[in-house]
Amino acid sequence: MNQLNDKERELIKLTNHFRKKAELMIEEGTLSDEFKSVVEACERLSGIIFEHAETRKSVLEKREILKNIVKDNAACPQCSSNEHLKYVSLDVNEKGWKFNKYKCRRCNISFVWNRPNNPWDMLLFIDQLKADFMLKVMNNEVEEDEKMLSLEMIKQLDESLATLKPVIDQSDLEASEMERKDEQVSTMIAEFTKYLQIQKILIS
Ligand SMILES: [Zn+2]
Repeated sequence: MNQLNDKERELIKLTNHFRKKAELMIEEGTLSDEFKSVVEACERLSGIIFEHAETRKSVLEKREILKNIVKDNAACPQCSSNEHLKYVSLDVNEKGWKFNKYKCRRCNISFVWNRPNNPWDMLLFIDQLKADFMLKVMNNEVEEDEKMLSLEMIKQLDESLATLKPVIDQSDLEASEMERKDEQVSTMIAEFTKYLQIQKILIS
């Protein structure tokens, strides 16, 4: 019950009311076919609600894990250590990418780390790095050694993308499917709640 939202919880309470009423009617031998079909519809919808709530919970949990798979591996720019770092706040750059701001308690300085703190921005960040290295490769004024190094970096960045991108795409797909289902279910709930409230008045 605790993973349900307010509307879902309200409807489940309402369906429970109808189920109890039906049980009573069965005992009394007064259960009509019409009321029976209302209760059956209640059972079906509460089944859908609980199943959807399970899916939603699992998708959100998986996304929470995904958020944390990208470690920024921050280190103090002054002492190069990560031992005295304390997370200060979130910093958003002009592109909307999110970075972590830290304080080094040894050097007593604050700094924004130069890598995004989440996989979605990391994908864009890697793309930008790749583009920067590509410019070097194509620039006639850049030394051959540096061009070779840039090509090697591009190769490594492609490998990172190949690992990260499918995981993120899959999660994004799951999330958008879940949101679509969420809307469907909440429309169903709104309609059915109205219907049951009317039924409740009719039978009381
Ligand atoms: Zn430091």
